[in-house]
Order: sequence, then structure tokens, then C-alpha cells
Amino acid sequence: MGHVSVVTRPHFDFDNTYVREMEGLFEHWQAAQAPAPRLLALNAHLAGELGLDVEALRSEDGVAVLVGNVVPEGASPVAQAYAGHQFGGFSPRLGDGRALLLGELVDVHGNRRDLHLKGSGRTPFARGGDGKAAVGPMLREHILGEAMHALGIPTTRALAVVATGELIHREGILPGAVLARVAASHLRVGTFQYAADRDPQLLRRLADYAIARHVPSAAGADNPYLAFFEHVVEAQASLIAQWMLVGFIHGVMNTDNMTISGETIDYGPCSFMDAYDPATVFSSIDHAGRYAFGNQPHIAQWNLARLGETLLFLIADEPEAAIGPATDVLHSFPERFLAHWQAGMRAKLGLADAQDDDVALIDDLLALMHAQRVDHTSAFRSLSSALRGEAGPARALFTDPAPFDMWLQRWLDRVTDGAVDVEAVAAEMDLVNPIYIPRNHLVEEALAAATDGDLGPFDALMGVLSEPFHERAGVERYAAPATAAFAGGYQTFCGT
Ligand code: AMP
Ligand code: MG
Repeated sequence: MGHVSVVTRPHFDFDNTYVREMEGLFEHWQAAQAPAPRLLALNAHLAGELGLDVEALRSEDGVAVLVGNVVPEGASPVAQAYAGHQFGGFSPRLGDGRALLLGELVDVHGNRRDLHLKGSGRTPFARGGDGKAAVGPMLREHILGEAMHALGIPTTRALAVVATGELIHREGILPGAVLARVAASHLRVGTFQYAADRDPQLLRRLADYAIARHVPSAAGADNPYLAFFEHVVEAQASLIAQWMLVGFIHGVMNTDNMTISGETIDYGPCSFMDAYDPATVFSSIDHAGRYAFGNQPHIAQWNLARLGETLLFLIADEPEAAIGPATDVLHSFPERFLAHWQAGMRAKLGLADAQDDDVALIDDLLALMHAQRVDHTSAFRSLSSALRGEAGPARALFTDPAPFDMWLQRWLDRVTDGAVDVEAVAAEMDLVNPIYIPRNHLVEEALAAATDGDLGPFDALMGVLSEPFHERAGVERYAAPATAAFAGGYQTFCGT
């Protein structure tokens, strides 16, 4: 008598257009063997979206795939090539030093998504690096990516984090991990820089591939490459505005960390701001404040200029003829950004229509928040209560409430102008002003515990962050800012 065993081997329907069409932009490679894989986190919802069997992924065979020990049927693992400006200096050859593209999956909505492993060992692009990643930073990517997704902001996402069972050397000795990441694609500004630096035909193939994958409508435009550029400029203008509206600081906006798809990628020394200050920097090596909170739109445009440069000879036969139109598109960035940002700010403040003095209303609030170092997330969230007649929590955020009281009255007059349903406006504000964000002290607490083998705080945090707009009883501490001592000394570190 035997027993019926359920087949749990995971099945993937890979379709690898990148490998088929982008010869010259990758190296075939295999992951390093992880000695003792252990699943730390699995994104069941995302697995379902990808048409993957969650139980099969959890099985030993599934974890072996997620950590890179087994190449699933149909996968064609490659390290992708790219270049990039890092902190303004150009590196002609970066590439996946510790990552592999496993292949592409078409999700249940019909969208093509990359499945990628990060921390899977040295590749031909590794230079001096060990090819590895630590549990903490990979779980950080998981937390921040899912938090961004729950906030409705385009982002790459973690499918799983698997501890390798190996110890790696950083500032100390840390447990290693592999992140299985899902992205609309891993095409970056740096991918275009890499191709442009080498071979015009390669660049043309790349641009055609990117158009087919991300902007099929551009193929039919008068000038497909200009239309493509405009699309990327627009996607990034929208993305950066969404970052700014929730106080997100990427931290390392190098051109290799800026996607063509408009998804946020590579959560390294990134963070959500506590006290509102445009000069806030989170990368410990960003001494010049290049990637400070308030500099992000400027840097995005700088990065997009680098993309535009690579496209010039595709836009017109003579670069001189391309410069005018490409520059016009590039210069549309600030206006596009501002349109997204102002629309978002109006929503945050419950303003249904646009009026001339909105800009002053917004700027004056931000100036007060800056001057009095008010917590960004709490300030916006507290306004709906003020609208409902409970101004106490908002006032309490300001050490000197008098100027805030004046602003509040102006704002209340403006919001309640006309026959508005105050409760409906307040409820709508609560849908765009999150109460729960991945606050640095909570993230650090979860990562420290996970590094010591306790996933409880990580799981609890993920649960809270999955519904960032919906206030719940019993999780008050997740909404509270860190103590000033923590916030003042906090910086994350680049060497992930
Ligand atoms: P990042 O700062 O993670 O965006 O990475 C920048 C570049 O450094 C990319 O080419 C990475 O593949 C590479 N890199 C980062 N860490 C490592 C590592 N531990 N081993 C090999 N390459 C790495
Ligand atoms: Mg990167």
C-alpha cells in the first residue's frame, strides 16, 4: 500500500525574449549553490498573479529554484549587461555582478514580467564584489517594495527571500540570502548607455525591443524613438512625483538604478522621510546631497538627459536634427513632474478643483512643516481629522501651533467652500495619505530580528504595511514616528 503523493514540483512557463533578441547585452551564467536554503518570505499574492503554485514554491524543489540551486525547465539564466553614472561618474561596464535574470513570465493579466535572482553569486560583471547579499538588505527590499506597491506606486517586487545558509563578510559576518525579484523588465537607463557606448546596431535593437515591450504605441508614431523617449520621461515624472508625495527617498538614483518601465528599483539606502526636510539624505556616502529628497526631480531629469543622448542618432540621421526635439521632450520633465505633484498634493489636501492660490497653500504648509521639523506622514494624515473637527492631533505635531492655526483656518475655508460633504472629502484624503509607512526604526527592528532568526517582527510589519491607508486598532506603534534620537542618527548604508 502506497500513499498518494501530491506533485509539488513548481512549474514555470518561461518565455525568454530578452535572451532571444538581446544578444550582446548579457552573459549566460549560473547561480552559485546555496548550502542550506531556507525560505524566509514568500509573496503568495504575487505568486498567484504570476500563475505560480504557492505550495509548490514553498516545497523543497520550489525553494531550490528560488535560491538558484536548480534551474527550472524553460529558464535561461543570464547576467544582464549595463553601464551607469554612479554619483555622476560614468562606469562603462557595471552589469549584474550578483544577479541573474532567470526568464520572463506572462502573468494572469497578460503582462510580461522578469523573474530575477539577486545575491546569487559572482558573475562576469562582479568586479571586486563577492556576488552575495545579506538577509537584512534582501528583506529590506521585500518590505519596501511591498510597501510601495500597497501605496499604489510602480515598483519591482519581491517574490521570495531565501536564506542561503552561508555566512558572508560585510562590516561583520552576516547570514546570506537570495532575493527573487519580479519586474516589468530590468531595462535601465544604464542598459541604453552600455549599448550606445559600444554598437549603434545593438542600441537600435535595444530601443526596438524596449518599444515592443513597454511602449508598443510608440512603434506607430511619426518618430518612434522620440515617442519612446517622451513616454519614459512621462513615466519617470509620474513616478518621482509619487515618491515625493509619500516622502520617499531613493538614495542611489544612479542611471543604472532608473528603469525604462517607470518602476522603482533597487532599494538600497532608501527610506521614508520622518521630519519634513528637502535636504534629507539617507545614503551614508552621499556627502554632496546629490540624491537628497528635494533633489530627486532634478536628478531624474539629469538621468533622463543621459538616456536622451543615447537616442539622438535614432531620432534623426544627423544628431543636430535630433537635439532640438529631444531637448524639448527633456525640458518637458519639470512641467510634467509639477502637474503630477500638484494634482497629488491637491488630493492629499482634499482640494477637488484647481485654484490659483493652491500653490501658496501647499508651499506654506510645507514651509511650516520644514521650519518645525514635523513628521511628513503624520502631518498629512492628521488633516482629515482636522477636517472632521478634531484639530488636536494635527496641532500637536507643531511645537509652535500659532502659525499652523492660521494655515489650518485658510485651508478649512478653502476645503469647505461651497456645498461639500466634509466626511466624504475626509474619507478620500485618508485614501491618499497613508497612516502606515515603512518607518526606519520599524524596518531596522524587523531586519535585526530576522538576521537573528526571528521573523515575527518582519511578518507583523508586512501585515501592517499591506494596508497603508486603513487605520486599525492595536497597531498604533506602527503609525508613530521614531524618537528624535533614532531619527537624528539614522543612515542606511550602500554596501549592500
Ligand atoms: P547597486 O548599488 O546594488 O545598484 O549595484 C551597483 C553595481 O555593483 C551593480 O553592477 C551590481 O551588480 C554591483 N554589485 C553590488 N554589490 C555587489 C556584490 N556584492 N558583488 C558583485 N557585484 C556587486
Ligand atoms: Mg543597482
